[in-house]
Amino acid sequence: MPPAQGAIKLDAMENPYTWPDELRRLWLAELERVEVNRYPSATADVLKQVMRESLDIPEGVALMLGNGSDELIQVLALALGGADRIFLAPEPSFVMYRQISRVVDTEFVGVPLAWPDFSLDRESMLAAVQSHQPALIFIAWPNNPTGNLFAEELLLEIIKEAPGLVVIDEAYHAFSGTSFAGHLGEFDNLLVMRTLSKSGLAGLRLGYLMGQEDWLSELEKVRLPYNINSLTQKTAEFILRHPDLLEEQAAQIRSDREQLFADMQALDGITVWPSAANFLLFRTEGKPAIEIFEGLGKQSVLIKNMHGSHPQLRDCLRVTVGSEDENAKFLESLKRLL
Ligand SMILES: *Cc1c(COP(=O)(O)O)cnc(C)c1O
Repeated sequence: MPPAQGAIKLDAMENPYTWPDELRRLWLAELERVEVNRYPSATADVLKQVMRESLDIPEGVALMLGNGSDELIQVLALALGGADRIFLAPEPSFVMYRQISRVVDTEFVGVPLAWPDFSLDRESMLAAVQSHQPALIFIAWPNNPTGNLFAEELLLEIIKEAPGLVVIDEAYHAFSGTSFAGHLGEFDNLLVMRTLSKSGLAGLRLGYLMGQEDWLSELEKVRLPYNINSLTQKTAEFILRHPDLLEEQAAQIRSDREQLFADMQALDGITVWPSAANFLLFRTEGKPAIEIFEGLGKQSVLIKNMHGSHPQLRDCLRVTVGSEDENAKFLESLKRLL
């Protein structure tokens, strides 16, 4: 989303931090040498090597890059969709699963989460997998917009039961301390997807898919050859050679999330759910969520209104964990409105 001028922008799970000046200078010096008259590397081998060295990618696992993980969802949908196919995901979850399914004319089945903790409903998930035989299952882990992690044992059960591919979407990996990547060797129908967007590089557009070579080489046939541009490749190579910076920022956000959660829990008039991601979902109890949302907007605090997007999200709002200062201003504005 484009930056809101002068506003506190807590609506899109962006990392609030930038890079130290010295690092920016080194980065710009590298960009200066990029030959933008040439096509980018279609295989992005250098970047992939740097990613293998700095991200937590198991040995022997194949890697595919996307222009954001949104593009990887599109590649999966193009490769596996069709008139006689079904895609499935729990709901409420990441809206792109449903939207992109529609674009590729593939039926989408949303299986409602359990209420009120948004856990996966074991019975209905397994029954839906049995009856619909989906070609593709998307599981956001932690889930967006609810922030929780589903039980690992149940996900393993679903992967075993699934007749097609299961994609574990770890967009919030940096904030959860969990991963399914360690299970990649155990199943031939499992893929794990991540993005650098929520870790501070949303503007770069770089997502990645991990899995067995057999699957990824099929999906590569759908990927456009130059989907990762030269500036993105060079920038990601540069910053991933300084992985401590991104990890320090993520650690700060994790700790601020816990503080914000505690502060919000102490407020009367809202219910807030625990989160393993860099955002918190909360419900307004006394007043309609839209009133709070618009009131915050008038005070230039931009969060996300979830009301109306799914029956289980009645009067729900989602706030991204920002800097300490931003979180304090959000809390102050929220208190005034409750
Ligand atoms: C934000 C998000 C994405 C998309 O991320 P990009 O890499 O920026 O396209 C994918 N999945 C989930 C669950 C997300 O919340």
